[in-house]
Amino acid sequence: MKSKMAIRTFIFSTLLTSCFIMHGQIKEIYFYTVPEYSSETVFYSGIVTKITDNSPVDSVEIYAEGFGIVGYTNNEGLFKLKAPANISKLFFKKNHYIGMSIVFIGDNERKNNLSIKIFPEKPNEKEQELIQKKYSLCISIDSSDLLKEDTPFKTTDVTEVPATIRVLMADNTVVVMNMDEYLKGVVPSEVPPGWDMDALKSQAVAARSYASANFKHNSEGADVCTTTHCQAWNSTHYDKTDQAVIETSRMSVKYEGTIINALFFSHCDGNTRNNEDVWGGTPVPYLRSKSCPCGYTFHNAHGVGMCQYGSSSMANTGSTWESILTYYYTGTYIDKPITDTFGTLTGVIYYGSDNNLDSRIAGATVKLNTGQQVTSGEYGLYMFDIAPGTYTVTASKEGFESASVTREVKSGNTIWGSIQLSPIVELTEVTTQKNIFIQIRQKKL
Ligand SMILES: [Zn+2]
Ligand SMILES: [Zn+2]
Repeated sequence: MKSKMAIRTFIFSTLLTSCFIMHGQIKEIYFYTVPEYSSETVFYSGIVTKITDNSPVDSVEIYAEGFGIVGYTNNEGLFKLKAPANISKLFFKKNHYIGMSIVFIGDNERKNNLSIKIFPEKPNEKEQELIQKKYSLCISIDSSDLLKEDTPFKTTDVTEVPATIRVLMADNTVVVMNMDEYLKGVVPSEVPPGWDMDALKSQAVAARSYASANFKHNSEGADVCTTTHCQAWNSTHYDKTDQAVIETSRMSVKYEGTIINALFFSHCDGNTRNNEDVWGGTPVPYLRSKSCPCGYTFHNAHGVGMCQYGSSSMANTGSTWESILTYYYTGTYIDKPITDTFGTLTGVIYYGSDNNLDSRIAGATVKLNTGQQVTSGEYGLYMFDIAPGTYTVTASKEGFESASVTREVKSGNTIWGSIQLSPIVELTEVTTQKNIFIQIRQKKL
């Protein structure tokens, strides 16, 4: 059920941060179901409106993680439904809207009066304008804070993306989140989820790099807060931005081996700025002024690093997310850790029965169709750690017919592909006094 939900292409949003103001009150109960839950059930309620003009959206399907449809919105966009108290996500979907989910992180997470904003999948020009206007109100990183620091942009010494991050919530509690779960709440808070996938991925990787290299809340036992002081975050996820985060998992922007301070901002005036021209201090080699195709004639925010609207414009004209990032961050490269993304293809080379250790074949040449090869070890075992894909593996050994198997390797999985070899049959002539016959025997193994 969960994965089925994740690929759906509609949905909504509860935008709970300062970027969006909630509209509307819950006036009536429209619909609710009480499935046969064993756990405690509670009410979830709210209103679903269109991001562009705040008009209510009816007939929105609402799913609880693991339980299927639990409710719909009425013609005023309202919903009230009963579902288990401990579900971690509600999904909202409707044709022609981007799929959306809201995450409930702690027991105290608000479950009522949720304001769910949904994005049309293909907004017209007027709608695009309205969406941009809402997002231009969100300044990515609070520059006034940076102004106070003398040398805010020294190269970091962080070489790896942390697996988890401590998030200081609005109520001052600290929640430890998986890095990607955190980023799923950041990307759609920073840029519209309807943007081109390459623009979403460049934002995901910039946000991951920024989060990996900035720790402004150590004294509060946290790494980042949920406001523009660090990066805007809220509990609303969208299918498209989730995909951008997942498909770039653990990737970051690096300069000379360390993760960069990946500053970004809404838009510039056609040129991004050098860090020292805005804040003074030492020039940072990767924060150089670049010409930018965002199409604006004035700066919104500091103008240092990646221009979000410029990134969107580059993506729309065919640039990849990697080329967008390395354009705005001069002299950088994308670090793509590979360990976890590899799968393992392994098995034994044998004749007779693979259960019988005596019929395993050591010293066989085991070769992939990509050219990589290894030699089978004691008990005939071979192993490749390789990128996901479909491979043909061929084993050969003197005295045996070569044989192959084809297997699909998936990220993080171990795929078993044993290969049985048949001994080559030898013909031997044996002459006797009375007649000639042919003896067939197997070659000595
Ligand atoms: Zn902060
Ligand atoms: Zn720009």
